[in-house]
Amino acid sequence: MSSFPIILSAPSGGGKTTIAKTLLSRREDLGYSVSCTTRAPRPTEVPGRDYYFISRAEFLAKREEGAFAESAVVHGNLYGTLRSEVERVLATGKHVVMDIDVQGAVQFMRAFPHSVTIFILPPTAEVLLERLRARQTESPAQLAARLQSALQELQQVAEYEYIVVNDDLERAVSSVESIIDAETVSRERVKNLRHQVGLLIERLEQEIENSTS
Ligand code: ADP
Ligand code: 5GP
Repeated sequence: MSSFPIILSAPSGGGKTTIAKTLLSRREDLGYSVSCTTRAPRPTEVPGRDYYFISRAEFLAKREEGAFAESAVVHGNLYGTLRSEVERVLATGKHVVMDIDVQGAVQFMRAFPHSVTIFILPPTAEVLLERLRARQTESPAQLAARLQSALQELQQVAEYEYIVVNDDLERAVSSVESIIDAETVSRERVKNLRHQVGLLIERLEQEIENSTS
């Protein structure tokens, strides 16, 4: 089976980070692509685990040299996916989970068209607002900026193949797992399918020939 990128997008507060972390803690066939960002780390974030926190100048230099598979300005900061991160994980035979915004997802699909795209929806606007406020990671101004981009992100939902409603976390994670499992055995991803079926046919034809001769 061949490994593939899994893009998780959602409006801010939709739960993509929580879902990605839960999946990664549970499944050995997944790895994470650590993105670069120019935003400051949050108190709980670890450089190199959650993000590579780099300066704007470093980011622009990397972009210039073509290091990013995609990059975008999100809530006023630069974010980008390193090609080397994606390739590093895929080379281990694991699927690579990516938590990227909608603009980035569209660009990324051009570089890695065999990706699976999943949009996480909050069950209601009230729940989204409640979760965002309870997270307490943004100032009121940052929160307002996130709500503004949430509106734009929601309008891009049709770009995604799969939609998962994040009401109950366990149910949402299971749905994403089912998508991954189904994609793993989708016909286009099964390696050497012609060869495998060819061998079966050859053997059965032999058997038929033997039984009729
Ligand atoms: P995103 O990465 O999409 O911005 P987060 O994963 O940070 O969103 O989730 C936003 C907040 O909502 C976090 O505090 C998280 O713990 C909480 N949360 C996420 N999913 C659920 C869920 N299914 N039920 C309750 N709380 C949730
Ligand atoms: P946060 O700052 O809350 O971690 O992320 C803010 C937004 O940036 C989220 O929508 C997240 O999906 C997006 N994001 C994180 N990493 C990347 C990336 O590498 N590329 C793009 N385009 N968006 C990203």
